Amino acid sequence: MHLPLDNSFATLPPAFYTRLMPTPLPAPYLVAVSDDAARLIGLSTEQASAALDIWVGNAVPANAQPLAAVYSGHQFGVWAGQLGDGRAILLGDIASAAGPMELQWKGAGPTPYSRMGDGRAVLRSSIREFLCSEAMAALGIPSSRALALAGSDQGVMRETVETAAVVVRMAPSFVRFGSFEHWYYRKQPAELKILADYVIARFYPALQAQENPYAALLGEVSRSTARLMAHWQCVGFMHGVMNTDNMSILGLTLDYGPFGFMESFDPEHICNHTDQNGRYSYANQPQIGHWNCYALAQALMPLIDDVPAAQLALDSYQPAFAAQMDLLLHAKLGLTQLEQHGAADRALFDAMFAMMQTYGVDFTLFFRNLSQLRRADSSGDRAVRDLFIDATGFDGWAQQYRARLQDEPASDAERQQAMNRVNPRYVLRNYLAQVAIEKAQNKDYSEIQRLLSVLRRPYDEQEENASYAALPPDWASHLEVSCSS
Ligand code: AMP
Ligand code: MG
Repeated sequence: MHLPLDNSFATLPPAFYTRLMPTPLPAPYLVAVSDDAARLIGLSTEQASAALDIWVGNAVPANAQPLAAVYSGHQFGVWAGQLGDGRAILLGDIASAAGPMELQWKGAGPTPYSRMGDGRAVLRSSIREFLCSEAMAALGIPSSRALALAGSDQGVMRETVETAAVVVRMAPSFVRFGSFEHWYYRKQPAELKILADYVIARFYPALQAQENPYAALLGEVSRSTARLMAHWQCVGFMHGVMNTDNMSILGLTLDYGPFGFMESFDPEHICNHTDQNGRYSYANQPQIGHWNCYALAQALMPLIDDVPAAQLALDSYQPAFAAQMDLLLHAKLGLTQLEQHGAADRALFDAMFAMMQTYGVDFTLFFRNLSQLRRADSSGDRAVRDLFIDATGFDGWAQQYRARLQDEPASDAERQQAMNRVNPRYVLRNYLAQVAIEKAQNKDYSEIQRLLSVLRRPYDEQEENASYAALPPDWASHLEVSCSS
């Protein structure tokens, strides 16, 4: 198949990457293709399904200039030095409806940045990345995409022997905060400037006209990161490894590992079993996002060269986060009329989260079922009230909420429709991914396809798929997800 590939990243000087080819895998098989992602770059499902050899890295398109990029980063708050694409290889970029998209193999063999790693990814974690990338995109949350997932029976050693897989992922750019930190800590300001100028020219061209384009870049990235954090908080997504090398310069969700979706609400929840101190707990995500922007600011200081300007850019994080939270939370509760109710609404939100925590109510179902509540009486309360172990725990807050609804112009039906457009019924719960993984490990890939089709319409009722909205079964309470991937 001909892929009209360019490679804009390869126009950077050689110091930024190493050119190399993927390492072939024996007897590959196609596990899944995302029709939506394929369509985005102009491929039909048939075309995408026929390109297994490319997706697994056994064939390289003639016009590709594969490369692995170098970067560094802070891991769990500690400077970790050079990391880089240890198991990712960029094929190049391709035109899409949303602008040029880079295509990257993840798990296609070792690179000079693999350190102690084998350059591979296991089927288990690749299924999780594949499904969640597409699920996040369908939720309307900025994210890298997943085009294809291929496997091979070649063994890969983790805690146990697993099998290899390759995800072909797509994003306008995979440049990370750590890509900048790399040149700062190496004291190579010339490369730092080349990278910043590249990112500005390609993704933020309007900033070139600003007095201090680098401070402006920091401001843009701070605010898009803040907005991303608000999206995560409002859908209950936990990334699990918010190291600076996993933070996208475009504010995309990147590098899916031990992520999770909040079920029984607990702000202190830690989805990454390896994160013992809870640095990346749900409640900490917004402030860690801000911390990461400080790390980026530090790296950009030689270019910004103006401490107050950098501070100003960083200070735009908090208001951007608060504003986005406010917008999303109002929408989640079906509330318009924001101006008249500002402070009272924030108290309503706080009380809601406190109540959700007290009763450990399921995050996704709470918001979804809340849309059935009626303004006039409690006749529509049942769906949400039944989620509470002690249903009277809901009633006090419901009274406040109902009182607030009196000031809303929309009818119950209109509000329900609007709420169902922003509160998903279906998210990638850990146990759903686990079921698909176990089947796939027995060569049955149907559940991946089924999940993909459920999660691409997360806001639709899909009565035929109601079981995918269900609370986790008892066995799922023992599921642990670690960094091992
Ligand atoms: P992560 O936190 O999973 O995004 O990975 C951190 C760093 O480790 C990145 O530089 C990855 O490329 C690298 N890495 C993770 N797993 C492997 C592996 N199996 N082989 C080579 N490099 C890896
Ligand atoms: Mg990473």
